[in-house]
Amino acid sequence: MNGFYNYQGRFAPSPTGPLHFGSLVTALASYLEAKSLGGRWLIRIEDLDPLREPPSATGQILNSLDAHGLFPDTPVLFQSRRQSAYHTAIEHLLSTGRAYRCSCSRKQLLANHGRHPQHCREVSTASSSQPFAIRFALHDEQCCWQDQILGPQHQVIRAEIDDPVLLRKEGFFAYQLAVVVDDIEQGITDVVRGSDLLDMTGQQLQIYQALEATPPRWLHIPVIVNEQGQKLSKQNHAPALDDRTPARNLFNALTALHQKPPESLLGGSVEDLLEWACAHWKRRAIHLTSR
Ligand code: GLU
Repeated sequence: MNGFYNYQGRFAPSPTGPLHFGSLVTALASYLEAKSLGGRWLIRIEDLDPLREPPSATGQILNSLDAHGLFPDTPVLFQSRRQSAYHTAIEHLLSTGRAYRCSCSRKQLLANHGRHPQHCREVSTASSSQPFAIRFALHDEQCCWQDQILGPQHQVIRAEIDDPVLLRKEGFFAYQLAVVVDDIEQGITDVVRGSDLLDMTGQQLQIYQALEATPPRWLHIPVIVNEQGQKLSKQNHAPALDDRTPARNLFNALTALHQKPPESLLGGSVEDLLEWACAHWKRRAIHLTSR
């Protein structure tokens, strides 16, 4: 188990492809938040879905982070090796009535405005012949929480309609479960991530509560978009980072985070750049970028 740390942050990429500029910006922001506050910084590979993950991606991501001088303070954690912890969490949620088995297809749910035609929440097991998912049972709630940079957040959580999948029908554990279980296990106090995950936070808060754990602080940074205004991602063909130019990439990432690095750093080493960035890190400057 982890000891108690005042600040423990992490970067948690899903290895669907090599690191691109947008993911470097997220990694760097979480690293600088942690380091500028004297905290620890961890890396977790969220390799939950082998069907979407080319086998080479994890190695590429870790090499890329190394090339950019972003070294974690503890060994990298792989979600693919955490099955038993996820099983235990699901058993707990099933036994406390906060999870249920559901064999509804996406089509059925869509046709029924997100309501479950078989009243899955009320029956204790899904009909045995059909494959089933396990979903989290949300409570209806007007959820309020404080983002470290965006300020007060309000989310309307709708029971049943929004219930997230925890274990997919295909047998893979889902992001909403694994991210909470692992942030708890790793003693993460502060999550820095892209604002594309903002809407997930209210649901995650309920999962923390159901697992009787203290939630972390959240800080959502603006996502980097391409010229068409789309989030940089593998789906949108974001190019892989060029690991041969790490100082330039870090310089550009700092610029995207509105940190105004001096041009002279471009000729320096990765270490010089990170040292400058840590000493001059201004969380509030990120806010200048629109969401
Ligand atoms: N694995 C998620 C992603 O790559 C990030 C999870 C998180 O930071 O909460 O989008």
